[in-house]
Amino acid sequence: MADTSIRLYIPNLPAPGQAFSLPDSQAHYLANVMRLDEGDTIRVFNGDAGEWRAGVTKISRKTATLETLAQTRPPAAEPDAWLCFALLKRQKTDMVVEKATELGVSVIQPIITARTNADHVNLERLRAIAIEAAEQCERMHVPEIREPVPVMKLMAAWPERPLFVADERRTANLLAPATGLSALMIGPEGGFTDQELEAIARIPIITRVSLGRRILRAETAAIAGLALLLAAQP
Ligand code: SAH
Repeated sequence: MADTSIRLYIPNLPAPGQAFSLPDSQAHYLANVMRLDEGDTIRVFNGDAGEWRAGVTKISRKTATLETLAQTRPPAAEPDAWLCFALLKRQKTDMVVEKATELGVSVIQPIITARTNADHVNLERLRAIAIEAAEQCERMHVPEIREPVPVMKLMAAWPERPLFVADERRTANLLAPATGLSALMIGPEGGFTDQELEAIARIPIITRVSLGRRILRAETAAIAGLALLLAAQP
């Protein structure tokens, strides 16, 4: 019987004391990869339930049943910051999703711009990456990953949320940490077009921001920008 440091995201945790079985992939992970036995414990979490220690009550090669034992952390609010970024090639998109999750975003919104080459993503795959990153970094919430949308469409329906647009072209102030609602927008490798910048500029609560003096690759800009934006969040 061991208390392991394994931490799994379980979207619908039942009431304490009630047994629940894991989906196949998580059961496989516990049984065959981590080789857990009955009586071993892990931590399970989601944004509503918080984090709980849970004991393995039954485990076979293909199935695992657990029971929540005691809460280890109450549910906690997390930053409400969105990342909107022009879709990148697969590996880079994967990396941005992983790092954005670690840095604490609430929503990841891929955008399609005139100079974006990629136009489709496997959302299931990206969601799996976000879940794994949330499990690893001790977050309570898994960011929501939205369907890619054209930037012009996103701007036309932009909500009341301060938008920080990373702009390498002119002298903007360095992005400062924000508290409360926010969104960071990162353009494609080729930059936004003038038409796109005009549409973005029409948003009432927009600030153009710099991420330093060098021109960063889009994925670097996303990660560096989120680090600056979220540095002061609780
Ligand atoms: N316009 C350039 C490079 C675009 S870099 C070109 O034509 O090659 C890709 C995106 O990263 C930009 O759209 C911007 O959102 C962001 N970015 C990169 N470096 C930046 C910086 N120093 N300050 C602010 N944003 C930056």
